[in-house]
Amino acid sequence: MKIGIIGAGASGLMAAITAAKQGSNVTIIERKDRICKKILATGNGKCNFTNKSMNAFDFRSQRQGVFRDYISQFDENDTISMFQTMGMLIKDKNGYCYPRSEQASTVLDILRLQVKNLNIDVLSQSYPVSIQKKKKNFEVVLKTNEKLYFDRIILACGSFAGEKTKDDYTGYTYAKAFGHTIIPVVPALVQVRAKGKEFKSISGVRCDANISLYINNKLITEEFGELQLTDYGISGIPVFQLSRYVSYGIYEKKKVRVTIDFLPEYDLKTWLTFVSEKWHKADKNITSEEFFQGFLNKKLNLLFLKLGEIKVETPISQLTFTKIEQVVTHMKCWEIEIEGTNPYENAQVCAGGVSMDEITLEMESKLVPGLYFAGELLDVDGRCGGYNLQWAWTSGYLAGKAAATK
Ligand SMILES: Cc1cc2nc3c(=O)[nH]c(=O)nc-3n(C[C@H](O)[C@H](O)[C@H](O)COP(=O)(O)OP(=O)(O)OC[C@H]3O[C@@H](n4cnc5c(N)ncnc54)[C@H](O)[C@@H]3O)c2cc1C
Repeated sequence: MKIGIIGAGASGLMAAITAAKQGSNVTIIERKDRICKKILATGNGKCNFTNKSMNAFDFRSQRQGVFRDYISQFDENDTISMFQTMGMLIKDKNGYCYPRSEQASTVLDILRLQVKNLNIDVLSQSYPVSIQKKKKNFEVVLKTNEKLYFDRIILACGSFAGEKTKDDYTGYTYAKAFGHTIIPVVPALVQVRAKGKEFKSISGVRCDANISLYINNKLITEEFGELQLTDYGISGIPVFQLSRYVSYGIYEKKKVRVTIDFLPEYDLKTWLTFVSEKWHKADKNITSEEFFQGFLNKKLNLLFLKLGEIKVETPISQLTFTKIEQVVTHMKCWEIEIEGTNPYENAQVCAGGVSMDEITLEMESKLVPGLYFAGELLDVDGRCGGYNLQWAWTSGYLAGKAAATK
């Protein structure tokens, strides 16, 4: 079996290694000068390649049941044992798996050695300008006009995420040419941009918070974790987790807002009781700024005073408790309007892609026999935590195996 794989990222390499192990003759065509460059940037350079806690909730797609139908065929345990068999030690941080070296380059080195040992051909700095199904095989015309012929094609071209420019001839272009439906592609696992001028004054603050996302006033999802405030809006893992819904809300021109609870560990009643006790004990000559000391990060205390139109130097004797109550209640529900997300370049993944309704359980196109798909090009995006690479390993494995053996 001659198999042509377009894209030498995580899913393409996984497909290539799996197919070559089954005895297929495999060629990978990669646009960039080197294979699997993106992996070097993953997990802050450490590569969080899978996670020991994996649920349906961790994978998002318009097709229901991705976890049940696909991940279950090659799961986190298969990934871990595959890398161990290839000779890689593993570091487990609360279920988040990294190479023991804590260097993403280790994962790349391990995969590259397999590519070499299995005699997989890599054509780098090359890409197809056309891929056509002929009677018995596929014809791939490269940008150099060279023609290659394959029995099977696996499209593993990834998405726009992390890329500065959008190239011509993307995986979406090839998939569309074969008649596949593309679910709108938007940035995901990305920072969120807010309306309002107050962000400059709180930029740099990091704190635990609960974030609730509303689209057209409907609660869509809630996330808890370390929030990072930036001069343009909000970032951090909880923001990344809900950013795909923000992207779709904005794409569909809906009203998107979030509310932030800066004190999620206190219910409102307990919080107001604490503030009320402090108020009654307080020397009424202290300033409002002094009264707020001990609540939140100083920058946030000042922000809420400003939003409540209380001057920092005002003695609390000039304020009523009702006014204080109003301001501190705001700390548990600060509403901000969202104008969008950062661009693809800043995103870790894209949501959307080739519709999974047109893909078999073996990753084959339901429209074009012999055409397979793997990775982020498909309409599957994972939560932050190793789930996107797990999707790349799972889909690459299934595509490589079926292309070689079916
Ligand atoms: C900064 C960052 C950090 C991340 N961290 C993590 C993490 O810690 N854990 C995790 O699970 N996920 C992480 N991800 C996501 C993860 O890296 C991707 O989901 C995964 O790499 C997708 O694999 P893929 O094979 O589908 O696509 P890619 O890895 O993007 O590979 C696609 C390949 O196809 C090539 N290509 C594209 N078009 C063509 C063409 N026309 N012809 C030839 N070649 C082509 C590209 O150059 C690329 O090499 C991170 C992503 C980023 C950007």
